[in-house]
Amino acid sequence: MDFNEIIGHENIIESLKNAIRNDSVSHSYLFEGPKSIGKEKLAKVFAKTLLCQRGGDNPCNTCPSCMKIESGNHPDFYMEYPDKDSFKKEQIDELQRTIRKLPLESNRKVYILDDVNKMTQQAQNSFLKTLEEPPAYVIIILLATNGYSLLPTIVSRCQIVKFTPIERQKIEKALIKNYNRSEDQARFIAVFSNGIIGRAIELSSSDEFKMLRDETIEKIDIVINGDKLKVFSVSDFFEHNKDIIDEILDIILLWSRDLLIYKETGNVDILINKDKVDLILNQCKKLSKPKIMDILDVVRRTKEDIHSNVNFQLAIEVMLLNIQEV
Ligand SMILES: [Zn+2]
Repeated sequence: MDFNEIIGHENIIESLKNAIRNDSVSHSYLFEGPKSIGKEKLAKVFAKTLLCQRGGDNPCNTCPSCMKIESGNHPDFYMEYPDKDSFKKEQIDELQRTIRKLPLESNRKVYILDDVNKMTQQAQNSFLKTLEEPPAYVIIILLATNGYSLLPTIVSRCQIVKFTPIERQKIEKALIKNYNRSEDQARFIAVFSNGIIGRAIELSSSDEFKMLRDETIEKIDIVINGDKLKVFSVSDFFEHNKDIIDEILDIILLWSRDLLIYKETGNVDILINKDKVDLILNQCKKLSKPKIMDILDVVRRTKEDIHSNVNFQLAIEVMLLNIQEV
């Protein structure tokens, strides 16, 4: 693994490489961004580069140090996860004991701490000492979904690196090239994953997700083409999948968006659900443009309502009846 294999985040990579080239690497970094956006992968490649014996701005992948990182047994590289649900003081104290020991094989020691949002206040207070006066050979990379739950004194000690969603086209290309997905599959997943590369990779290989999408679209088709009684039979599907209702509603939103786009442009090439184009054309014959806009509205509203704890079954039934009333 090296920087060339990372999808997106080019600016971050460039600034980290610059720091290596200019010998201005910080002692502590805070990598901040949504789950599965690629923080851990990038941090590991950065660590690998910092420890690589060739000393370039990209790991050589062949020196003993690079090999050891790859196989997970480099004595100067530490990847730390919260113990059970949190980083407690004991775990941080133990870590600090290892930090004080000199590196064994290189002139640096690199620590990555994943999910530091789960660090207790006590642990943070203890860790602050290390961040305030880190040994010269130590580089610490903290990974967090956001910095808000961290002590401001911790955040201010770190160089903050913000991870933002990756462009859709890049995810699409990567899924096709690196993960052998079909163009149609890659298109839908790239949009659905909202720029979160880890999620895109996970979803694109999930049979369950594929089934969920097929089934959701099938149910919506039943509602659009069926009578009132059908609505109640379909609502069971939503009840059974209550835990993943957000995903289901997002699938419906992307579907409705395609209906609207086809209605407005008649262009099938720009549809996200391109693999189901026949169904889209069919439903578009039945639905007017204002009706499709109403559907988009009601699905968005249902999503909000469910989050504000209205009666689940009622919210779903009202949504389905609204979708049906042409
Ligand atoms: Zn190397």
